[in-house]
Amino acid sequence: MAADVMTHEDVVARPAAAAQGTNCTLADYQAMYARSVDDPDGFWAEQAARLDWVKAPTKISGWSFDPVDIKWFEDGVLNICHNAVDRHVDAGNGDRTALIFEPDSPDSPVRTITYAELQRDVAKMANTFKKLGIAKGDRVTIYMPMIPEGAMAMLACARIGAIHSVVFGGFSPDAIAGRVEDCESDWIVTADEGLRGSKSIPLKANVDAACEKAPVKGVLVFRHTGGNVAMTEGRDHWYHELSDGVGSDCPCEPMNAEDPLFILYTSGSTGKPKGVVHTTGGYAVWTETTFRYVFDYRPGEVFWCTADIGWVTGHSYIVYGPLQNGATALMFEGVPNYPDHDRFWQVIDKHKVNVFYTAPTAIRALMREGESYVQKHDLSSLRLLGSVGEPINPEAWRWYHEQVGKGAIPIVDTWWQTETGGIMITTLPGAHDMKPGSAGKPFFGICPQLVDNDGEVLADETVGGATEGNLCITRSWPGQARTVYGDHERFIQTYFSTYRGKYFTGDGCRRDEDGYYWITGRVDDVINVSGHRMGTAEVESALVLHARVSEAAVVGYPHDIKGQGIYCYVTLNAGEEASDALTAELRQWVRKEIGPIATPDHLHFTPGLPKTRSGKIMRRILRKIAENDYGSLGDTSTLADPSLVDGLIEGRMNR
Ligand code: ATP
Ligand code: MG
Repeated sequence: MAADVMTHEDVVARPAAAAQGTNCTLADYQAMYARSVDDPDGFWAEQAARLDWVKAPTKISGWSFDPVDIKWFEDGVLNICHNAVDRHVDAGNGDRTALIFEPDSPDSPVRTITYAELQRDVAKMANTFKKLGIAKGDRVTIYMPMIPEGAMAMLACARIGAIHSVVFGGFSPDAIAGRVEDCESDWIVTADEGLRGSKSIPLKANVDAACEKAPVKGVLVFRHTGGNVAMTEGRDHWYHELSDGVGSDCPCEPMNAEDPLFILYTSGSTGKPKGVVHTTGGYAVWTETTFRYVFDYRPGEVFWCTADIGWVTGHSYIVYGPLQNGATALMFEGVPNYPDHDRFWQVIDKHKVNVFYTAPTAIRALMREGESYVQKHDLSSLRLLGSVGEPINPEAWRWYHEQVGKGAIPIVDTWWQTETGGIMITTLPGAHDMKPGSAGKPFFGICPQLVDNDGEVLADETVGGATEGNLCITRSWPGQARTVYGDHERFIQTYFSTYRGKYFTGDGCRRDEDGYYWITGRVDDVINVSGHRMGTAEVESALVLHARVSEAAVVGYPHDIKGQGIYCYVTLNAGEEASDALTAELRQWVRKEIGPIATPDHLHFTPGLPKTRSGKIMRRILRKIAENDYGSLGDTSTLADPSLVDGLIEGRMNR
C-alpha cells in the first residue's frame, strides 16, 4: 500500500544541531537498548540509582504475565514527592523555578514557583490534609483547574502516602460521582471555579451535585476565581481557613516501591473507563527516565506539556517526570483559541519555551486556522516538539515541523497509554531520524511484538522484519500498571487474556524494514475491505492531506459485497463548504493516494467529530452510527460534546 512506499520516501533526518549536547546519540541508544533487554536488572538498577531511596532496592524485577503478577524494586523504600521536590532543595537548587503558571487570560498575572517554595507549599498542604483526617492509603479525589495547587495536591497526597485519583475538571457531576464511588474515596479536593477561554467552570457546584449521589467525608476548597459557592457545614472547608497556622514541616512518608501512588481512569475511547493503578517505585523510575531521554533534558530549560493534569500525560509529563528531573514545567489554565488562535504561540514566545508537547487534535485545530497565527510570534526558543494521544497524520506532522519548528528541530511522536505510565515507543531527538506518522523505536526495556488474530507471532521481536498486526509487549517495564482498582480480574481479562502471556495494547501496528513502528489505530477500528486489512489511520491521513479537509474519522460498516465498506466522516477547513463535487473529488483523491481498494463508500460531512474530553476521536460511536445502530451507543459519559451525536445520527438517517 501507499503507506509502505511512504516509509521509504519520507525520512526526515534528525537535525545536526539536535545531536549537540544530547544525552543519547544513536550509538548510545543502541548500546543502552541492547543492555536494557540483555540485562534488564542491571540496567534498571542503574537508572533507579539516580533517585533518592530510603532503602535502595536489592530486587529489581519480579514479574510474570501468566499468571499476572507485576512487581519492580519490590524491597525498595522511597517517596516520590521527596524525589520531585525536596531532593532538589537538599542539593542546593531551591532557587530554580519548578512551575510557571500561565493563566487563562494573557492579562492576568503569571506565577512562578521555585523548588524551595514548592517544598514549603506542598508540605503545608500535606499537613492540612492530615488535619482534615486524610491518612496513608486513603483515596483522595482531585477535581481541580489547571493551577499550581492541582499539581501540589497530587504531590501532597504522595508526600503522606494517600492515593490520588485526579478527575479532569471538565467532567460532569455524574462522572465525578462514578469515579468517587468506584475507588471508594472519602475526600475531594477542588476549587471554587476554573477558567477556560474566559468561561468559568463551576467546579465546587459540580462537586456538590456529585456528593448527592456519592457522599464523602470532606471537601477541601481552594479559592481561585473568588466566585460565590455554597459550603456545607461539617463537610466543606476553605483551604485558606483550614491551613491557617498549619506548619510547613512535614516529613515524606517512606513508601514501599509497590505501594499504590495513584488511580487514574482511562479516557474511555473504547468503553467504560478503567481505574488504572500505578505504584510508587516503578512509576517514579519510568517517568524520570523517559522524561530525561525522550525530551533530552537540559538543565534550565522550560518544558511545556499542554495536557491537563486530569490525564496521564499531565501526571507523567507536567508533574512527576519534569519535577523529578529538576526541570521547569509550565502549567497553562486556558485553551488554544482564546483570546485568539495564536495563544499557544504567544505563550511559547512569552516564556521562551524550549520543549513543547501537545496532541494531534490541537495541532489539527490550529492548522485549520492558517499559518498567520504562528508567524506572528518568535518561536526561536524551541528546541524540541512532541506529540501524543493519537496517531498524527503526516500532513499535520509536516505543518507542525515546518510552521512551528521552522523545519529545524526534531519532533518526538510518543506512543503510550494510561496503563503504560509513560512513553513506550518514540524516536529520541539526538539519536534517530524521523518518519512523519511513525512513532519510531521502542524505548529502553520495551519489547514490542506484532501478532495475528490467533496470536501467532509475525516476525520475531528481536530480529524484527516488516509486518503488521496487533501490538503486544512481551516483557514488563517499571512503569506498567499493576491492576484495575477493585477489579483485578478485569485487568487480567482486558490486557493479558487475548494473547496469553503477553500484554495486549488494543492497538494495531505496522513495523517497517527499518524497525519503525506505525500505530494504525485501535484494533477494533481495523477494517477489512474485500479481504484487505486496512488501518483507519491510513485513510484518515489521506483525507486530511487534501487542502480543504481539516479532520477525518474513518470506520467500517457492513457491506454486502466487500464485507466491510469504508465510511468517512469529514470536517472541512474554516470557510469551506460541502458539495457533491467535493465528495467526488475526495473519493478520487483517496483512490489516488492509497489505491482503488481504499476508495470511500460514504462521505459524511460534519461540523465536528465526537471526541473524548482528552481530544481523542471516539470511533466506536461513529461505527455504530455508520451501522445504523443508534440504540446502543455504549458509554458516552466521557464525550466532550454529546450534542454532536444527534446531528450525526440525523445526517446518517437522511441518506
Ligand atoms: P480507553 O482505554 O478507556 O478506551 P484510551 O485508550 O483513549 O481510553 P488513553 O490511555 O488516554 O485512553 O490513550 C491511549 C491510546 O491513545 C493508545 O492506546 C493509542 O490508541 C492512542 N495513542 C496515544 N499516543 C499515540 C501516538 N503517539 N500515536 C498513535 N496513537 C497514540
Ligand atoms: Mg486504552
